Amino acid sequence: MFWNERIETLPRKELEALQKKRLKQTVVQVQKVAFYRQRLADAGIRPGEIRTLEDVSRIPFTRKQDLRDGYPFGFFAVPLSKVVRIHTTSGTTGKPTVVGYTKKDLDTWADLIARNMTMVGLREGDVFQNMVNYGMFTGGLGFHYGAEKIGLTVIPSATGNTRRQIEMIQDFGVTAIHCTPSYAMHLAEVAEEMHADLPSLTTGLFGAEPWSDAMRAELEQKLGVTAFDSYGLSELFGPGVAFECPERHGLHIWHDCYLVEIINPDTGEVLGDGERGELVVTPLAKEAMPLLRYRTGDITMKLEDGCLCGRAQKISRITGRSDDMLVIRGINVFPSQIEHVLLRIPEVGNQFMVYVDRINHLDEMTIEVEINRSYFSGELQDLARIQKKVVKELRDTLELRTTVRLVEPGTLPRFEGKAKRVIDRRDQK
Ligand SMILES: [Zn+2]
Repeated sequence: MFWNERIETLPRKELEALQKKRLKQTVVQVQKVAFYRQRLADAGIRPGEIRTLEDVSRIPFTRKQDLRDGYPFGFFAVPLSKVVRIHTTSGTTGKPTVVGYTKKDLDTWADLIARNMTMVGLREGDVFQNMVNYGMFTGGLGFHYGAEKIGLTVIPSATGNTRRQIEMIQDFGVTAIHCTPSYAMHLAEVAEEMHADLPSLTTGLFGAEPWSDAMRAELEQKLGVTAFDSYGLSELFGPGVAFECPERHGLHIWHDCYLVEIINPDTGEVLGDGERGELVVTPLAKEAMPLLRYRTGDITMKLEDGCLCGRAQKISRITGRSDDMLVIRGINVFPSQIEHVLLRIPEVGNQFMVYVDRINHLDEMTIEVEINRSYFSGELQDLARIQKKVVKELRDTLELRTTVRLVEPGTLPRFEGKAKRVIDRRDQK
């Protein structure tokens, strides 16, 4: 079993010995992939030379583009006959990335999810509604099998038909839900419209996109749950890579299965604890598709060792993806920062859209946000006051002047999967 307390709280020395052993196995496993044989040869590394955890820094990074170039099965280290499932990541442009799993991989993955869910207190007797896409997206089947492994009663409701979702929560006495934070916000809105109470709910597992602590407070208040952050990506099985414990101060990353580094995304230099940069992961227990030093694109940092719960090292909540980051007139802006500001302003809702244009060679950012009717008298001067307030709050946080457009409640798009709130039109002209 992967989720017993013993492995979660392994003393550092034992953990490092286990990591070292698994790293060596991984380096052997990647030899079955032509890409890695070539990559290591080009770097002048013989597999036997990777003996310590420090040696990993000699290995070149693997990028998402490498995986795309290997489409479809170029990164499989086992014959296709041993691959029992395939997922793909949502490709925004071109071909998606293909991920394969052996039977053992699926077992390991379900164990990791089970470990996360038990960590936040879910047990047999809990009723779990999994409100994410069950197709190629790993959040659906990933959580499904992990939850069944601990014996939860699983409702594979997937996405869509929010009113029906709310009825199921009520009728089946659902205690825990899993969805994206933006869908959870939509769920809360619809429940409010239906005047539906959800008294059975205690636990919300939210992931697949960055979300702020302000959003956490809002979701907890509206849905009556304790909200936990879930992190993962398909290239590393899917969800289950890191998860918040009941302390909810950073996410425990499972070091027996993932070797973690933080790098400067521009230079590739390895950073220390407490320094923010891009998360790079070498999975240590993958059979069908082993990877070395995979650049996740996600921005976080390692937190100092030691959590009140006794488990091993944590990373901070993801502040964004390095490719989500907008550079507006030379200033780095993450959509999560905008969300954070808007959630603090009661006069506006929590749905928003960001448009970026280049006008007369200057980047211009426009933010559309819904007005909150209960704070709006209907007077025009009231509109102007609210708009000015939003502009000021955004400027104080982002150090950037923006244009703010207030729109009617309920008119901005709602997202069931990953939210696409940013439309960058700068390259289209
Ligand atoms: Zn902890």
